[in-house]
Amino acid sequence: MGYLSVGMLLSAVVCSLSAVIDRHRVIKATNYLEQFGYLQPSLDQRAKGYREEEIAGALRVFQKVTDLLVTGKVDEATLAMMRQPRCGVEDPFNQKALKYRVMGYWRTKNLSYRIYNYSPDMGQAKTRLAIRSAFKYWSDVSPLTFREVSGGRADIKISFHKRDGSCPIPFDGRGHILAHADAPESGLVHFDGAEYWTEGTHYGTNLRIVAAHEIGHALGLGHSQYSSAVMGPVYHGYRADFRLHPDDLRGIQALYGKPKASAPNLVPPVAAPSPGKGDKKIDPCSATLDAVMLGPSRKTYAFSDQYVWTVSDKGYTKPIRISLLWKDLTGNLDAAVYSPRTGKTYFVKGDKLWRHTGYRLDPGYPKPILIPPNVDAALYFEPKKKLLFFKGSSYWQWDELSSATFDTRPKPTSELFSGVPASLDAALTWTNSNIYFFKGDKYWRMNKELKVESGYPLSMTEQWLHCD
Ligand code: ZN
Repeated sequence: MGYLSVGMLLSAVVCSLSAVIDRHRVIKATNYLEQFGYLQPSLDQRAKGYREEEIAGALRVFQKVTDLLVTGKVDEATLAMMRQPRCGVEDPFNQKALKYRVMGYWRTKNLSYRIYNYSPDMGQAKTRLAIRSAFKYWSDVSPLTFREVSGGRADIKISFHKRDGSCPIPFDGRGHILAHADAPESGLVHFDGAEYWTEGTHYGTNLRIVAAHEIGHALGLGHSQYSSAVMGPVYHGYRADFRLHPDDLRGIQALYGKPKASAPNLVPPVAAPSPGKGDKKIDPCSATLDAVMLGPSRKTYAFSDQYVWTVSDKGYTKPIRISLLWKDLTGNLDAAVYSPRTGKTYFVKGDKLWRHTGYRLDPGYPKPILIPPNVDAALYFEPKKKLLFFKGSSYWQWDELSSATFDTRPKPTSELFSGVPASLDAALTWTNSNIYFFKGDKYWRMNKELKVESGYPLSMTEQWLHCD
């Protein structure tokens, strides 16, 4: 064997070794991206793996939200960031959009909390103080109040867990995952008991800052795309001058409003919309729908008058004012539709179109719509990835990406959907990919051939809302 072939052999070994290391790095990164919601595997992907472009896309989003150089590659900086201590809750970002991040909300503003056990590193008194300070960040900037109870039922339940199965999602020992919390109205907040919890020092993990983050989840906030926000997913260590980020304030105030009493140093609260004459809370069981949509975070929202509520298998939530969530909307909507393709939410009223990213109005909106005003309903049409707007017995199709204008020629609704009544109230494509139309108390479900399924229409209040 000559020198040359030994060299070739060696370089082949080196090559395949570096290929193995590369593959190992990609697997590590992919696991992280899956664990924290940047990649959502279908069954097919579980079996065959992801395409390179899918991984690169998810990496770019992760790099963007963690303020790294956006390369789409598994570089050293990206792996190092993935090793940083962080929260165990998923990130709401994916490749389609930086989705806004609301996990839910409490129907009451006066909440109790209970600390079930204490960090042995800090003891009872210091643990209680750190938790109380963590709540104060949020009560200072919202109308929420928090009261500690020492026994009985509490809204927010705080405890430290070791890696012992006392929590259904066990922690991972010291480092990496520090804590996790559930969305309202669960109230569970768990800290990893294996961490070394501290206060007032760079050593260990700061309980007050991590608690402020987890309480944010318990109050309904998801992760922020601003890495320096307290709701950013990665823990950046103790900061003596730690305070909330403007994005944290926007988040909590979008859910609960501004603080009631105008304490000094705080922005005076904006005047709440004064309830008009005869303004009474609406009853979903007797309301006429203006619009329904499967919104971001796959919740079903129903709109009527100035109110919105969510609907699930278990029934419906208490209606709240639409302006509490989408503060520029006053209600009496014509249609609402969320596009999973772009992550945008659209509302139509009269001759105007509002576009939101999460609960924030996009710049330049509302804009005039280019179809007749006062549409009846809108939905996202998965087979064509288009938005459909309905009025009377016609529909208009709109591609959000290919042009700024609607396809202005209406088509008869009956050409696409058979058996659907004219002059609908509302429509949506639901989590099961089925299309539903609503009118009065009736609703119709379409099958895959876009024909009304047998057995429909059904009563919305009885079958969908489970009213008595
Ligand atoms: Zn978190």
